[in-house]
Amino acid sequence: MAASGEPGRPEEDEAALVVVVGSCMTDLVSLTSRLPKTGETIHGHKFFIGFGGKGANQCVQAARLGAKTSIVCKHGRRVSGNVGKDSFGNDYIENFRQNGISTEFTYQTEEAATGAASIIVNNEGQNIIVIVAGANLLLNSEDLKKAANVISRARVMICQLEISPATSLEALIMARRSGVKTLFNPAPAMADLDPKFYSLSSVFCCNESEAEILTDLVVGSPEEAGKAALVLLERGCQVVVITLGAAGCVTLSQMEPVPKHIPTEAVKAVDTTGAGDSFVGALAFYLAYYPNLSLEEMIKRANFIAAISVQSQLEALVLPFCLFLLANKF
Ligand code: ATP
Repeated sequence: MAASGEPGRPEEDEAALVVVVGSCMTDLVSLTSRLPKTGETIHGHKFFIGFGGKGANQCVQAARLGAKTSIVCKHGRRVSGNVGKDSFGNDYIENFRQNGISTEFTYQTEEAATGAASIIVNNEGQNIIVIVAGANLLLNSEDLKKAANVISRARVMICQLEISPATSLEALIMARRSGVKTLFNPAPAMADLDPKFYSLSSVFCCNESEAEILTDLVVGSPEEAGKAALVLLERGCQVVVITLGAAGCVTLSQMEPVPKHIPTEAVKAVDTTGAGDSFVGALAFYLAYYPNLSLEEMIKRANFIAAISVQSQLEALVLPFCLFLLANKF
């Protein structure tokens, strides 16, 4: 048995140290040589269906690194006699189980279909994505109340914005009341984000384009990211991290309010879809299991894990077991 707080395959009755309140989506992925222009139809060379959604991706990443995890989410239910109403939802529970994630608070609904993401990835690994959140938007207060015990016993709770913002906000409030560290990923970004999200974030982690939407500043370089991070910090977050793709991240905190660029070794990206999720899941893992590491060290390690995720297609976010070894043997 893994000792309390150490990563490894935990006993059933151990509390999940990383809890995600967030989305699960079916990813419909087309690979093309380039991204289409408005109104244009182009040929793709490969299509596949995968398990996605920021919440699920982040949870899978933390679990693959060895974290005991639980996800609070909602998906559609396949209704017998109505094939096609939702052909994805039931498979999701099995996917979580296979990744060692507790599905005790994975809810099903017949009121909406499982969320879906249409993703196009070009040869440079760049993507465009449209999400239809569906059942994710039905995750509500009642669902959170049922999961209160698992949220309050976590070390880190992660939230994003692919569920209703009111539900995310409520989850963050519940976590903070219990002294649980909150890792908030404001994605997809909303220009008019409720200010309470900032003060409820122990760590506020976004990418360049989200930082631009939130601050109205241009974020194209580490220096510019530093300025945006300062604006976000002043809104009340304890720590801000802005991810910069191959350039790594910029971070600062209330304790050290001077922006710091934490570069990474750039790799050739095959598919950057989910890079941010890989980073967030890895950061949650280090916050929960290695709380004595410096923030900079955690970010360096999360950079490293995310760099591996971009080197193969989307499905590789479901990283092989070797990542577990890497994460725990730096
Ligand atoms: P997505 O929305 O596609 O999931 P994102 O835009 O939220 O991704 P990025 O800022 O592109 O996230 O990348 C997140 C992290 O992934 C970076 O901070 C970095 O650690 C890593 N990363 C991304 N691209 C590369 C790359 N080409 N080389 C090395 N690391 C990378």
